[in-house]
Amino acid sequence: MSASVPDVIVVGAGPCGSTAAYEIAKAGYEVLLLERDEYPGQYNSCGGGLGNFLVKKFDLPEKILHKKIRTVQLHLGEEIKTYRAEQPIYVSIKRTEFDRFLAGRATQAGAQLRCLQKVIDYDPYHRRLKILDRPSGALWDIQGKLVIFADGATTQAWTSCRVGVDPAQAPIIGIAYELGYPDNPHEAFEFFFDEQKLAYGYYWIFPTKDTLNVGMGGPRDKLGGQAGRMLAEFIAARTDLAQLKPVRKSSGIIPGRLASQFHGEGIMVVGDAGGFVNPLTGGGIYLGMVSAQMAAREACEAFSCGRFDSPFFSRYTRRIKTSPYYAGLKVFHAMVNYSQRHLKRTGRPILGKIFKLYSDIGDIALRKL
Ligand SMILES: Cc1cc2nc3c(=O)[nH]c(=O)nc-3n(C[C@H](O)[C@H](O)[C@H](O)COP(=O)(O)OP(=O)(O)OC[C@H]3O[C@@H](n4cnc5c(N)ncnc54)[C@H](O)[C@@H]3O)c2cc1C
Repeated sequence: MSASVPDVIVVGAGPCGSTAAYEIAKAGYEVLLLERDEYPGQYNSCGGGLGNFLVKKFDLPEKILHKKIRTVQLHLGEEIKTYRAEQPIYVSIKRTEFDRFLAGRATQAGAQLRCLQKVIDYDPYHRRLKILDRPSGALWDIQGKLVIFADGATTQAWTSCRVGVDPAQAPIIGIAYELGYPDNPHEAFEFFFDEQKLAYGYYWIFPTKDTLNVGMGGPRDKLGGQAGRMLAEFIAARTDLAQLKPVRKSSGIIPGRLASQFHGEGIMVVGDAGGFVNPLTGGGIYLGMVSAQMAAREACEAFSCGRFDSPFFSRYTRRIKTSPYYAGLKVFHAMVNYSQRHLKRTGRPILGKIFKLYSDIGDIALRKL
């Protein structure tokens, strides 16, 4: 098996890989987008909650938006705090539709998408990717000037050359059940903090047009193997949820740390592969897509300069680290670390209070706009 040599190879057709592929193809370069699964979004686990501002920033069409959310509820033990806005704060999506749309947009711009192709190694010295063609079981390889790794929290960039996020570093586990709910009347995003049972994480209920996405997230080492049981108990304890049938169950790793370096010899990492996730909310789609746009810009500059070496791509790491997104992420990491240290020291969880502070600040900012 072989392929003509493209200008850029993107590994992983999640939201971040497809965003990078789209931007680079739009600029006129040949892009090969490799996806392990049968189609983009097939198994990608998610709550499906996005800030409404993404709709404009990434030109998302109405057809992939399920609900526009104006109401957010925080359940903090006995206390319920409700935020209501005049304009939508969040939108809900389904990853099967969202990821397919973004990959489709990349192919319309000229990128070539090849599914069921799993990257199993990268040799930085020869710039060579080794790929498993899953239908036939055959191995093939391809050399590229530039590879962008967008293959999520367990990136091959780390396994092969120690670039990107180390999946062993403080991973967060997330589980999402999509419960069937035709003509779903729910219009709020709900967050639940249970200081007794889930001191380090939270549960959510996010509605789409025909499902309720119910999930939970927290540090893997604290949850042990209990996350699935805890989510099942959360659902069983509510008669309104217990009667709904799951139409999709998924789980995944969310990086709990930022990578220290986002580039290497002929490579850049974007999205979860770089750890671009808000550790307070577990949300990574927005930050990851921003990193993908930044990497795409660097890729186009690399072609203008004819440079694909690690010192050249160090500008990507530098630009990320001096961006406001990175500064914001550092603040969220500091907040989460503080809440964990506080819990260890005093035995009292404060993650819910920190989340409320975050929501209060967001609410004030929205009112000032
Ligand atoms: C339970 C859960 C709930 C979440 N909820 C939200 C939410 O509500 N809002 C939000 O913003 N974020 C949420 N996140 C985080 C969000 O899902 C990620 O931040 C986001 O998907 C990152 O996008 P990505 O493109 O970097 O990686 P991914 O979405 O993980 O995509 C990576 C792609 O690469 C493919 N791939 C992987 N390895 C290979 C390989 N070796 N070769 C070829 N292809 C490969 C995968 O199949 C996949 O399609 C949630 C995460 C979890 C686990």
